[in-house]
Formats: sequence, structure tokens, C-alpha cells
Amino acid sequence: MSKDRLEIPDYNSLFSEERYVQQRANKKQFEAPCSEQDTAEALAYSKSAEYMEKNFDRKAVVINPHKACQPLGSVMAALGFEKTLPFVHGSQGCNSYFRSHLSRHFKEPTPAVSSSMTEDAAVFGGMNNLIDGLENSIALYKPEMVALCTTCMAEVIGDDLSSFIGNARVKGVISEEFPVAFCNTPSFVGSHITGYDSMLKGILSYLYERSGIKANPGSGEESGEKLNVMLGFEPYTGNFAEIRKILDAFDTKYTILGDHSGNYDSPATGEYEYYYGGTKLADVPLAANALGSLSLQKYTLKKTQEFISGTWNQQITAMSTPLGITGTDKLLEAISELTGLPVPASLTEERGRVVDALTDSHPYLHGKRVALVGDPDLLIGLIGFCLEVGMEPVHIVCSNGDVDFNEVKFKEEAEALLVSSPYGSEATLYIGNDLWHMRSLLLNDPVDLAIGSSHLKFAAKDADVPLVRVGFPILDRHHMHRYPIIGYQGTLNLLTLIVNTVLDELDRNNSGFNYDLVR
Ligand code: SF4
Repeated sequence: MSKDRLEIPDYNSLFSEERYVQQRANKKQFEAPCSEQDTAEALAYSKSAEYMEKNFDRKAVVINPHKACQPLGSVMAALGFEKTLPFVHGSQGCNSYFRSHLSRHFKEPTPAVSSSMTEDAAVFGGMNNLIDGLENSIALYKPEMVALCTTCMAEVIGDDLSSFIGNARVKGVISEEFPVAFCNTPSFVGSHITGYDSMLKGILSYLYERSGIKANPGSGEESGEKLNVMLGFEPYTGNFAEIRKILDAFDTKYTILGDHSGNYDSPATGEYEYYYGGTKLADVPLAANALGSLSLQKYTLKKTQEFISGTWNQQITAMSTPLGITGTDKLLEAISELTGLPVPASLTEERGRVVDALTDSHPYLHGKRVALVGDPDLLIGLIGFCLEVGMEPVHIVCSNGDVDFNEVKFKEEAEALLVSSPYGSEATLYIGNDLWHMRSLLLNDPVDLAIGSSHLKFAAKDADVPLVRVGFPILDRHHMHRYPIIGYQGTLNLLTLIVNTVLDELDRNNSGFNYDLVR
């Protein structure tokens, strides 16, 4: 090894060094721990069927829920707009969590400021913090818009964002022209998807109303030819590239409303900028005159969709994350219907190639029992994908609660989808449950594969089930978000990820009789 080469031990090897082993052993005398036998017995009990019953009876505590809080989604939504600074009205600790969580998933910085409320603001209200924060952040970071959301503290004390922003204008801290969009995001209800929706709707309605434009769908020389597309709380920057590829193949003009892919896929040039890409602010009011809107997360974008169909009077086609062949077929049909354009031959050809790939892998996926965890729209896509390739969803956990779209509940739709296929007959859907429930399920009714975010890795490890990382957040693997999972290309990526995990397992568990070279 070169003498200049740095030793960078993983913490597993670092903390296996004798000095740390000794340090931990010494600490035990102050911790009054249970005996090793007690610990082992408790652990074994936590894996039992008897414990599972108690676990499912639990009412007063949530353990490892598969969701994040509302303002985290709002920060992501704000970063989907050109030169927009997300501003969190509340404590700095909350904002640090949103920033670090998003940055750990995307491996990119998340520029967002907070009003840094502390005890005095909790007692006297956070107006002064907000006004000072606006003045400082606009001077320092020079945004073209600020997008303001709240944390629990600001909500509990009832801070009034609209009047605080008005007072900031009266004080001359911000000019009348400077846009400050805002939404309320109390985190004791809802989740990151609710927060995303509130901020997207907040930005669209704010920029539209202040523009003075009167919505006239399908009018306007430029905007009338366009289609609006919303991807929602989208953890995959690759999905933005994929939807662009599809829309370009149709040769239609379009506006993506809320595109954070620029901020989360910025190049390393040696110079850091605060803002990359995003929907142009001037395009938002013009979007009111587009032909129609397409939403790819119908359960997430409930309020935004209501605003677009209600205030903009626009035709809106809303679907869940278009995964798999059937999901992508529906996406292409929707684009074709909204634009009046035929499905391009290049996409039909791509479809054929992916169907061929699915057929190649089918023998290894057929009948595989899977556990699924995710947000409602992703779960609808994943259930559809599993059924289409002959995998059998068994345990499905959605911590987000039973959201609805057009008066159809997510649970209702998911269960109807499951009963539409013989592969769905073993499935049970758990709404509002958490990953500690999922752990009991995996241990007591084993599956072949778990599909979900990094948070599922602990339950999967305890149950010795391989985990395919899909969704948000993926904190412990790199670059997954760069590869699309929507469209035909995304179907191929998802298939590759899943089938190769199954093949890895076959190799890992080989009996020694035959360590196959070809599969
Ligand atoms: S739940 Fe409330 S207090 Fe906790 S991080 Fe989210 S906004 Fe902050």
C-alpha cells in the first residue's frame, strides 16, 4: 500500500478494535444491563406468534412508521421551482432533519432555511423570527421566490403566516412584488405526501392568483398546446428523465409542475450554486391555459388536483405511479387522450423489448411471495407490477393511512386490484401500521422477498429476507434514485433489480449440489 493512502475503516471494523470493545465492556457497569440470557430470551419472545398478537394490539405507541413529516414534503415541493428558497417556519432541528434526510437519499445538498424558533418564540409567537429570517435569507441567498411552510411548534401556537408575511411587507423587509408562497404543514397529522401536496397547491394557486390571468384551458398560442405533468413526491430523479423521454417521443409540448430533479442531480463543477433547474415561475400562470393536466400520484396530489380541476377548470387525468407494462400502457393512453396524439412507434417497440425481458425472468419470479411497504401511489404501482409478473404480494404495509381520491379509498382500490388476480389471493393490506408490525409478519409468515425503503432493512434482516430497495428513503445504497422505475425503461430496471436479487439468493443458499453458471 502506498504510504499516502488513507486508512478509512468502516465503523463496523473500527468499533471491532480492541480499545472500543474494551470501552463498551467497561461502560456496562454503569448501565445496569439485563443479563445476556435475559436479552436473548426477550429477543426470541419478540419473534414469537404470541408477541405478534400483542404487537398488533398495541394502540398507544408507533414504532418505526414508514412515513416522514409534512414539512419534509413541502421542502421537496419548493425545490421543484426555479430559484425558490424553501423556508421552514419553526425550529432549526426540524429543518435539519428534513435537509439531512433528503440529502442522504439524493446524496446532494438541500438548501433550506428556518426561522429558528426557540422558547421565546414559542411563548410570544414567531413573527419576529419570521420577519428577520425573510430579510436575512433573501439578502444572503438571493432567491426569486420564498416558499414558506410550518413545523408543529408554529402550528400549535397558531402563527398566522399570511398576516406575518403582510407585516413583513409593511415593514419594508420584502417588497410587494417579491413572491412568498406558503402553506400550513402541521406534522401531527398527515405525512410527507400531504406536505408535498399542500406546498405544490400553495405555489400554483399563489403564482396564478397574483398573475391576474384568467384560466382558459386550451387557449393561448403557446400554453394552449401544452400538457401539465405532475410527478408528486418523487424520490427518483430518473423518473423525471423518463417522463421527459416519453413526452418528447410524443412530440408534445409540456410543463412539469414541480421538478426538483435539477436540484437533486446537479453536476460537480467545482462551483456550488443554490438553485438548479425547476419549473419556471412565469410558466405557472400559463399552465392554467394548457390543454389538460396529468398527475402521476393521484393519492398524494389530492388538493392540487382539486385546485386544477376546480379553479383552472382543466381536464385532469390522475393515476398512481405508472409501474410495469400495464401501468405504462395506461400512462401512454392518458397522454394520447389528453393531447390527441398517437402512441409513438418507438415506445411500442420499447414495450416489446421489455415484455421479452419479463418473459425471460418469469420462471424465477413466478409464485414468489413478497412483502411490500410504501406510500399509497407507489404501492398501487408495485402491487400491479407484482401481479403482472406472477409474484404474490402477501404482507402490504402502508403507514400513511387510508387516503382517498374521487371518493375511492386507497384500501378499496388496492384490495380490488389484489382480487383481480389469482396472485393476489394471499395478500393482506395493513393501513396505518408500522414496520415493527411488518417485522412480526415477516417472522411469523415468511416471504421470499421484501420490497420497500431502507427503513425496512432491520425487519428484513431479523427475518432473513432479502430486501429490494424501492421508494423513499433509500439511505444505504447509492444512485438508486438516478434509475427510473416508471415507464417501460423503469419496468426493466425494476425487473432487473428484483430478479437479480432472487438469483443472488439462489446462489447464496445453494446446497452445493449445483452452483449454477447459467440461469
Ligand atoms: S414532527 Fe413536528 S416537531 Fe417533529 S420534526 Fe416534524 S415538524 Fe418538527
